Amino acid sequence: MATKKNIPVVEWEYAPSLEGTSHIQLKKQYDLFIDGKWVKPSSGKYFQTINPANEEVLSEVAYGNEKDVDLAVKAARKAYTEVWSVMPAAERAKYIYRIARLMQERARELAVIETLDAGKTIRESRDIDVPLACNHFFYYAGWADKLEYAFPNRKVESIGVAGQIIPWNFPLLMAAWKIAPALAAGNTVVLKPAETTPLTALKLAEIIEASGLPAGVVNIVTGFGDTGAAIVNHTDVDKIAFTGSTNVGKMIQKAVAGTGKKLTLELGGKSANIIFDDAPIDQAVEGIINGIFFNQGHVCCAGSRLFVQENVADKVIAKLKDRLNSLYLGNPLDKNTDIGAINSKEQLETINKYIKIGKQEGAEMYQPSCSIPKKGFYCPPTLFTNVAQSNVIAQEEIFGPVLTIQTFRTVDEVIQKANNTPFGLAAGVWTDKGSRIFNLTTKLRAGVIWANTYNKFDPTSPFGGYKESGFGREGGLHGLSSYVKLV
Ligand code: NAP
Ligand code: MG
Repeated sequence: MATKKNIPVVEWEYAPSLEGTSHIQLKKQYDLFIDGKWVKPSSGKYFQTINPANEEVLSEVAYGNEKDVDLAVKAARKAYTEVWSVMPAAERAKYIYRIARLMQERARELAVIETLDAGKTIRESRDIDVPLACNHFFYYAGWADKLEYAFPNRKVESIGVAGQIIPWNFPLLMAAWKIAPALAAGNTVVLKPAETTPLTALKLAEIIEASGLPAGVVNIVTGFGDTGAAIVNHTDVDKIAFTGSTNVGKMIQKAVAGTGKKLTLELGGKSANIIFDDAPIDQAVEGIINGIFFNQGHVCCAGSRLFVQENVADKVIAKLKDRLNSLYLGNPLDKNTDIGAINSKEQLETINKYIKIGKQEGAEMYQPSCSIPKKGFYCPPTLFTNVAQSNVIAQEEIFGPVLTIQTFRTVDEVIQKANNTPFGLAAGVWTDKGSRIFNLTTKLRAGVIWANTYNKFDPTSPFGGYKESGFGREGGLHGLSSYVKLV
């Protein structure tokens, strides 16, 4: 029993409520999925993917190199010219629907594997990642034979072979964001998942195999950064879709300059969550927690900068601290867990580096006392107050459960502060006044702005950024337009 201001506080130990792993099947070793077959990597090399919650090895995964990427692109080109681009669109739609249904049937398995491989809570992978991934396939399947209605009065053509590179924070969902619209528009795909989270993309390859999708339409090549670079640099790829860090995005933009390849970049963020004094405070506090802590801050659009109107700042900060004390950090497979594991040792080191910088910069840190599992990579939820606009922790993307808090007095001041970063991915506004919401949504330079909610996604709604958060949109008709030529 602990005490808080001399009042005894019971520290509740939740009863175990673990999601089982007996129903999932993971192979010891995974090869590359090229031309509808499982192919050994030409280097003969494999790398391990681990569970960041306990550091146990889950599987070995093939390390694809330039030669393998070349094989995959050739398979995708052949499938494009001979089968997929000439197939009636309604037939293409049937395959995409079939993939969606098979994913749904295996939703529980996909959710558990996502949690094991990425460290995210089962609550998130079960309720967000997997259902949204299925819904993207359902949604784009619907468009496949209606492209002339999606882009009225235009002749719609597919592009060809799409090279797609995705990050580790939403592995299956990012694969769905990329593959579903590409297939619906008649393109074929070579996709590379991130090195720390390749397993659900490989499970998706098994599902694609089971769906009977013609060989070569989707190829999955696992590996490291150089595998991604081989896709970017391949001369027979027509479009690159990249989601990841701004640094790698810039390198990719340089690499494709002058090649004629189409490019979309979904990059980093440093999104502002703004609370006005007329906001429903408890709801706003919950939204802030949801926006940055429930996902270990591993969301590109995480609300990592909080701006609170000065006259309610003390109240909001006190409530936030109280709420942090009730969050449960630990085994991501436990359905009670609010904060799971950090995706990798490297990412944990990066986050800790920023926490150290924050302290050195003179910001005031607050972390609740919570027990951290001995094995695995974990970071307690962290608040920084007394933050200056120029502080590194207020400017750079940390990609962890670290929230900076600043105050403001007027609307103009908060717009200026919120826009003052190199990024422009998302923002949240908490207020009772509709007119204020509309005013801010037009003045905040962010691709997505949520009002009195945060981190809500839907396949019909476009997502993407301004400035260094990238260009191009995914989701909705905008997402489809990146995969077509309008002539
Ligand atoms: P990352 O290091 O940029 O990696 C992203 C992907 O690119 C990985 O598959 C990576 O392979 C690969 N890659 C690395 N170097 C490459 C190169 N030179 N050429 C081609 N591909 C290369 O990003 P991350 O750390 O995985 O992901 C976190 C970042 O993604 C954050 O900045 C986050 O904001 C951003 N993100 C943005 C969105 C959005 O929609 N805007 C969504 C999710 C995440 P390896 O894994 O082998 O390094
Ligand atoms: Mg892993």
